[in-house]
Amino acid sequence: MRIVWFGFVVNTLFYAAIMWLLILGAFALRRVSRRKRGLCVACGYDLRGNLEHGCPECGWRREAAS
Ligand SMILES: [Zn+2]
Repeated sequence: MRIVWFGFVVNTLFYAAIMWLLILGAFALRRVSRRKRGLCVACGYDLRGNLEHGCPECGWRREAAS
């Protein structure tokens, strides 16, 4: 039994890429679903759909408004 280094490296990169896609996809889905429900995309605070004025809880998108 020998380690096939090329296959090992290719498999590692391949599965790492899939893991990254899953993680990034989960974060993107969470942002989209929060935005749809009118919640702060950063902390989930209920903004009642008023996303333009930012979030008073965590300060998301607050710099431009104040
Ligand atoms: Zn927030």
